[in-house]
Amino acid sequence: MINLYLIGHDYEYELKNVIRVFDLNTEIEIYYKYPNIFKQNDINIISTLIKENSIFVSKVKLFDGNKLTLQNKKNSSDIEIEKDDFKKVSKTITKLALYQILSKYYNTKADYGILTGVRPVKIITESRINGKNDNQIKNILKETYRVDNKKIELMFKVADIEKKYIQENMNRKSYSLYIGIPFCPTKCSYCSFTSFTKYNDEILDLYVNNLISDICQTVEIAIKNNLKLNTIYFGGGTPTVLNVKHFIKVFNVIKRYYNLNEIKEITVEAGRPDTINREKLRCIRENNVNRISINPQTMNKKTLNLIGRNHTPEEIINKFNMAKEEQFEIVNMDVIVGLPKEDKEQIQYTIKSIMQLRPENLTVHTLAFKKGSSLFKKYNMDRDSEKVKRMHEIILEYCTKFNYYPYYMYRQKNIKGNLENIGYSIKNKECIYNIMIIEEKETILGCGVGATSKIIDKKNNRIIRIPGFKNLADYEIRNTKIIGKKLNILNSVDKH
Ligand code: SF4
Repeated sequence: MINLYLIGHDYEYELKNVIRVFDLNTEIEIYYKYPNIFKQNDINIISTLIKENSIFVSKVKLFDGNKLTLQNKKNSSDIEIEKDDFKKVSKTITKLALYQILSKYYNTKADYGILTGVRPVKIITESRINGKNDNQIKNILKETYRVDNKKIELMFKVADIEKKYIQENMNRKSYSLYIGIPFCPTKCSYCSFTSFTKYNDEILDLYVNNLISDICQTVEIAIKNNLKLNTIYFGGGTPTVLNVKHFIKVFNVIKRYYNLNEIKEITVEAGRPDTINREKLRCIRENNVNRISINPQTMNKKTLNLIGRNHTPEEIINKFNMAKEEQFEIVNMDVIVGLPKEDKEQIQYTIKSIMQLRPENLTVHTLAFKKGSSLFKKYNMDRDSEKVKRMHEIILEYCTKFNYYPYYMYRQKNIKGNLENIGYSIKNKECIYNIMIIEEKETILGCGVGATSKIIDKKNNRIIRIPGFKNLADYEIRNTKIIGKKLNILNSVDKH
């Protein structure tokens, strides 16, 4: 248990995240005044922020029980970021002072140092836009944020590939359309998405009818605001639970507004091979879908059973071959590192099997879970972050050998060691939608249950999120409320 006393600031969220980099499962209690007496069996940390003239000073003291064990002091002249952004400066030195103490206490360093956010590469992209050169950015990442050299190298590789896609969109008024299909054949045991496993043809018919109305109204709002459609992404859930007649309906509606030949990229997640057949593949390909995801997660049959997926590795191979016969230009495969009962051998087997298929994209997730989750309880998985790191390294070795490049990345909460999720691609087959959503450089308009819209307000440099409803009844009855929000917000922001 850690008691954290914050004096002169309220950076509770940020400092909790720094602590979780070192200890994912510890309980953290926050106090906003000096303690009268310390709790004997706990770690007690006092983080003080003061301003002396124009300099911020952060002091941190760590007590084991009531014994002062470590202390540290940082001031704003120690760091390399813009000094006129007072909030950023004070927050950064407060995190840094705590990070250094914890690093000594736990006798380890974190790969991403004090960068606890989800989108590390955004720092490079934004700094380049603000005129910094790559050496200056590397120095900031190393000295101020304390990012490990290998991770800096990875972040620059990703940023360099993303650059051309971001530049293409910088001065365009464009958007991507996200279409959510919240149904799956079974529920994976680690799943945190909105997805329903009880459905039949009638429920899907009703859902698609509501979805079509949502798409029409959303697209009309976009067109009125002169936004050009860049990409379409069907996600979920598992969109391929829909039948051919449903896909035809949805595409017919989109074709009322757009020539599908002119849309750069249309993705359909076909994550579960048990939902794919040739008829569906042919139908979506005829409607210009050029990218699909067929997700093994693992090629080990035993693990697939453990995590609640009903398919076999053979089905993955068959459906992949079928997709290639139907001329899909890009097939993505998702894998998860850190699944129960998996170690280096299993991940090696998975990646080796996938590389025999040579999909154009490979997305590598690290399993995130909370201590109380059913998966954690069932398999008593005390995550060894070094083991997970080694598994990532095995995948990286294969990707390098077969000429795959990391092209987008994001980090998740609740991963010990703060590892990242990485999308690899062979050259020029990168998924534009993934880059845009992670770098937050383009408005995303979401339709369907669980679909979030993200509207970019360029003038005020902010992103406005509009979460969609998470259940079918609200979506059917009250979705006009969400449409109204999309309309009002999009009308009010500066899209240039
Ligand atoms: S396929 Fe994806 S959305 Fe469906 S249950 Fe599994 S993790 Fe959740």
